[in-house]
Amino acid sequence: MVKNLPLVPTAQAGSMAHSPAGLSWREEYPVVSDACNLCLECTLFCPEGALVQDRQKVSVNMQLCKGCGICATECKPKAISMISEFNGERGIFPAKGDKR
Ligand code: SF4
Repeated sequence: MVKNLPLVPTAQAGSMAHSPAGLSWREEYPVVSDACNLCLECTLFCPEGALVQDRQKVSVNMQLCKGCGICATECKPKAISMISEFNGERGIFPAKGDKR
């Protein structure tokens, strides 16, 4: 019997773009582009304090980021994009014959 379980994000060891400490549930991570005007609003909205001004750009501490995407939503010049964290095989309990 095949159970119709929802796919959940999983990743094979070494397949994640970043290796967070205990935050394996993060699905996406923010990337700050050159369109950033250093208004620093994102640093005010980030609930984890993961965004900091580093010289003339905003950098993300991947050990703190939980991937909520609030920074990308609040960024007015849309300089922050959320990128998929996983580049490996997705899902667990694939049905037999399922060739994802
Ligand atoms: S995705 Fe969430 S936790 Fe990560 S830097 Fe943006 S606001 Fe902070």
